Amino acid sequence: MKIINKTFFLLFVSTFSFAQNQLKPEDTEVWEPQPKIITPGINNLPPSDAIVLFDGKSLDNFTHVKGESPKLEIKDGAFTIMKSAGDIISKKLFGSIQLHIEWRSPAIIEGEGQGRGNSGVFLQSEYEVQIQDNYNNKTYANGQAGALYKQNPPLVNACRKPGEWQTYDIIYMAPKFYLDSTLASPARITVIHNGVLVQNNFELKGKTLWQGMPYYKAHGKAPLKIQEHNNAVSFRNIWVREIE
Ligand code: MG
Repeated sequence: MKIINKTFFLLFVSTFSFAQNQLKPEDTEVWEPQPKIITPGINNLPPSDAIVLFDGKSLDNFTHVKGESPKLEIKDGAFTIMKSAGDIISKKLFGSIQLHIEWRSPAIIEGEGQGRGNSGVFLQSEYEVQIQDNYNNKTYANGQAGALYKQNPPLVNACRKPGEWQTYDIIYMAPKFYLDSTLASPARITVIHNGVLVQNNFELKGKTLWQGMPYYKAHGKAPLKIQEHNNAVSFRNIWVREIE
């Protein structure tokens, strides 16, 4: 039996090597279609094919959850979500995206734990990447900055000091649902915080809930939501690239 296996193995290897040698290097080259040419941005600025949601001047691409225009102060190219301002959502609906967003918690520290510099970016309005000042501020690991709220802690705490600008670069693959509304494939998310990988292609278990276990409810394209959570948190340079 062993001899037969060995013979088959040698035959397979020699056939494979023979086939490999029959191929010219050009036989494994793909020329068409060529990738679309875009101009990358410098210093986190949007690439030429990005959808710019906030360029430092106007909040025209957002509304409050209840529909009215956001009345938030824009200063030095950034807007600040103050206490009681309410959540804001993008007017445009999104599926899978690459998202760049910059945020800053107040330099003057107020509150502790979940009460310090808390906001959040909700992909498709349902799945939160926590925003929080966790520089020397302990809270539950799956609720700190870079966590997928109550589902997965960040791989490391990459927070900068309060008052400093921080970046999130997020690759988000939307969940898919069958026609009968059951889940076909879960959402997946990768998060890079200040250039550091903190979520690596994590499979979301459903909505990121404060209370109760996560679950999915079928949905289509949906707005990007930025949370108001009683703390002043500023934002700038928000852009998206849709992933087809
Ligand atoms: Mg939050």
